[in-house]
Amino acid sequence: MVYNVLVSTTSSVPNMTIFKHIDLVSANVVIGTNIFSDIAATFTDFFGGKSATYQGKLQEIYKEVIDELKSRAATIGANAIIGLKIDFDEISGGGKSMFMISAVGTAVHVVSCNSSLDQVYESEKSCISSTTLANEITKNRIIQLLKQGIFPTEEYWQYMLNYPNDETTILLLDVLWRGQDKFDYNVTITDQLKDNILNYLKRVDSLFAITILYPKIIDIKCRKITFKILKDNNLFSPKHVIDLIQKNELSAAIYCLELDKVTYTMDDLAQMVEISDMLGNIPNTGETLVVKSGLLSKEKARYICENGHTNSITSEYCDSLSCLKNIKGLTKIEVSKIDDFRVKVDSLKSLFASQSN
Ligand SMILES: [Zn+2]
Repeated sequence: MVYNVLVSTTSSVPNMTIFKHIDLVSANVVIGTNIFSDIAATFTDFFGGKSATYQGKLQEIYKEVIDELKSRAATIGANAIIGLKIDFDEISGGGKSMFMISAVGTAVHVVSCNSSLDQVYESEKSCISSTTLANEITKNRIIQLLKQGIFPTEEYWQYMLNYPNDETTILLLDVLWRGQDKFDYNVTITDQLKDNILNYLKRVDSLFAITILYPKIIDIKCRKITFKILKDNNLFSPKHVIDLIQKNELSAAIYCLELDKVTYTMDDLAQMVEISDMLGNIPNTGETLVVKSGLLSKEKARYICENGHTNSITSEYCDSLSCLKNIKGLTKIEVSKIDDFRVKVDSLKSLFASQSN
């Protein structure tokens, strides 16, 4: 096995900065003296390095012990060994003599001198860099300001775009949502502020955004702005639409049907088929009734909408301008959104079918 561990006999590694001292590492290789027995040489020869044969043997043993040391260093997460020392000891026992070669050094984590501070600290999670600390302080300062209803300066907005975080996201969405309420005089949203918030939201983690945006679609006041965020960021989530239908929030669910995703999977398609089926099976909210309009008039079939308006049986949608709902409680616009969605589902189906052929 080859370990990518640098080894140095001095206390540094050229062109590298020692980022962390990990631990002392040692390795031993024991060899019988008989390897040398075929070479007539004395100890002075051995240590004096006069014999080429010894030199060759020594290199092999040396390599073996260092490989062992590298392996130990790599196991504990080091990428270099500094201060390497090698010792030779003779151990004898039972009438036999053996050599033990020991290597010892300090396992360290080194980084290139050219690495940025952030890269250095990223590679070592157990430390906090001053950059990270400064960012955390700025983040907390912004959160404090937002909680007091004070909006960030341009400089802070720049920071926020680079470092979006969940807490700030929640606070900003709250501002945006409250600003939709014409009767909440505590929040006035200028176009600039709205643009800043919408830009910030583009930088937010989409899974997190989805979980807080979809429930808000139910709120009529906030629906339009929430929909805009979902649409601008391609945050269609079939799972959350199913959730809305199950909660009987049909108009909210249908509102979301025209949203898009960046990419669609087979799972998405399966859930979209489910949405299509669920919407095809919604119960009637209105009814058709045979009613007599006067004592002497003939009985006539009528369409009574969910709001109790009586219409001609030929009217598919309620004639009342404040209503305009069909027997399922859906408006013409909603019906056409469902139709469009079905076309999308069918198109996706055929695309996946052609892909598997
Ligand atoms: Zn009606």
